[in-house]
Amino acid sequence: MITHDVVVVGGGLAGLMAATTAAGSVDVAVLSKLYPTRSHSGAAQGGFNAALSEDDSVESHIFDTVKGSDYLGDQDAIEVLCSEGPEVIKELEWAGVPWSRTEDGRVAQRSLGGAGFPRACFAADLSGHVVLHTLYERALKLGVKTYPEWYLVELLVENGRISGLFVYDLASGRTEIIRCKAVILATGGYGRAFAKTTNAFANTGDGMTIAYRAGARLADMEFVQFHPTTLYGTNVLVSEAARGEGGYLFNNRGERFMDRYAPRKMELAPRDVVSRAIFNEIKEGRGVEGKYVNLDLTHLGEAKIKERLPQVRDLACRYTGIDPVEKPIPIEPAQHYSMGGIRTDLNCETNIKGLLAAGEAANVSVHGANRLGGNSLLETVVFGRRAGRRVVEMVSKETAWPELPGESLERAEENWKNNFGSNSPLDPRDNIFKIRREMNRTMTEYVGVFRTESELKQAVDILAGLKERYSTLKVSRKEEPFNYELIEHIEVGYLLDLSEIIALAALRRTESRGAHYRTDFPQRNDQDWLNHTIIWRGEKGPEFGKEPVSITKYQPVERGY
Ligand SMILES: Cc1cc2nc3c(=O)[nH]c(=O)nc-3n(C[C@H](O)[C@H](O)[C@H](O)COP(=O)(O)OP(=O)(O)OC[C@H]3O[C@@H](n4cnc5c(N)ncnc54)[C@H](O)[C@@H]3O)c2cc1C
Repeated sequence: MITHDVVVVGGGLAGLMAATTAAGSVDVAVLSKLYPTRSHSGAAQGGFNAALSEDDSVESHIFDTVKGSDYLGDQDAIEVLCSEGPEVIKELEWAGVPWSRTEDGRVAQRSLGGAGFPRACFAADLSGHVVLHTLYERALKLGVKTYPEWYLVELLVENGRISGLFVYDLASGRTEIIRCKAVILATGGYGRAFAKTTNAFANTGDGMTIAYRAGARLADMEFVQFHPTTLYGTNVLVSEAARGEGGYLFNNRGERFMDRYAPRKMELAPRDVVSRAIFNEIKEGRGVEGKYVNLDLTHLGEAKIKERLPQVRDLACRYTGIDPVEKPIPIEPAQHYSMGGIRTDLNCETNIKGLLAAGEAANVSVHGANRLGGNSLLETVVFGRRAGRRVVEMVSKETAWPELPGESLERAEENWKNNFGSNSPLDPRDNIFKIRREMNRTMTEYVGVFRTESELKQAVDILAGLKERYSTLKVSRKEEPFNYELIEHIEVGYLLDLSEIIALAALRRTESRGAHYRTDFPQRNDQDWLNHTIIWRGEKGPEFGKEPVSITKYQPVERGY
């Protein structure tokens, strides 16, 4: 049996920040189903928000975030995020991050949506990539043990306390048990529940489902972010940096239509507002070819596009054949980010002793009902660092080892065996890919930007049917190296649980707030719904409750841009 004081699951920004913070004080290892530098964090282009300039202030960053969250973000958590931001950006600078610079040598900052000031620190449009590589190098330097291409399958919890992990080593094809005193889940989002998403194939919400099945509480799962600008057809992200650098949105009449929806902020209104505006233009017949709108960067000029948006240009050329230096590019909204996640306190602790969570997998609720661009990367490093610090306080070499995994291990082994065997599907032509496709289509069509009771009910029914069909399917190939049939099977299972929870939570919330827009309840309703949705696993399925929002300074008012 392998042992470590602390295991961080996830080699993205949140996981590597946590691990490198804790390294040296405790024996910490990183487990990651991908090679760490292939994590989705590496795809982030826009930047990390932090109030660095003397003309900006932490207070104004806090206010923008509270307002952006449609007043559902916990204000105590937002205060932590924004006030620790500048310090963490400097720490990353000292760790070697090559930030883009201003003429006088300071860290350059750009405007992103919903911000009152150009506040996103960036490295061209490769921001996530360079920070991920810097942190990975820091992990190597500190001698952090990594387990790349090791897959967390279940958390082992005995008497409400973490006692270890049940994992699958892809290269050997064997399962292993890792005994540890604490676990930090930093497993990222669940974008692959949707047909149209900017997320990587690996973003299957594993940590959220694994924690939920082990008894952790999830929160605010109905809040799913749809990014306004993804390439039409492939949904490859066109970073908000493109609008931050001055890009315009046009409909088929050549109108900059955002003046109808957000006359002051225009293209730099928050994402929920811009995504709804685009859909509305298309619905009312002003979409180009009836399907998309145009993002125009041509007026920025070739030099600026090459310097500030090289990746955006490259992706547009590759995937649409259009060079944004010469012509506008066709874009449409798609799923992008999970506001909901594993509920944690300000120190990243969950309701299971010894289990912490950080990054996109977690919900400490800094984004509330809608995340601002640049705040997620900031969250990964601020709360990754907090998780690393907290775990050092909780665990030391002297801390007693938790109980050996007993009942929980028996259950995990039983569940594992259940994956294999011969199929007995309800429909003989059924397979895991069909189920995944139907789940994806259902989530994009019925649990998307605009939601109604009847469509959400339809989604819940379809998902229940898919879960039943899923339970009859088995994996034919036994344990063997790189068994992707098995991985696909397990991940679809995780996503089905989450999709059902998202649809049920959306059905339950009879108001519109941030990214959750109910056409049958178009108003925000603070009287009944100024609270978090809390979700836990009951005997028969998910159960739902409420928790108050932490409000320190800013009372909810109507949100206009
Ligand atoms: C295209 C794109 C661009 C973005 N741009 C920005 C931006 O400019 N600014 C901003 O603020 N935000 C941006 N975001 C959001 C932000 O990048 C992510 O929310 C953030 O990087 C998530 O980091 P993370 O460390 O929580 O998870 P990830 O980087 O997704 O890492 C998850 C890790 O968990 C591991 N893992 C998952 N499941 C398992 C398992 N079962 N077993 C073992 N390991 C597992 C994976 O291997 C991976 O290492 C963007 C997102 C996308 C998709």
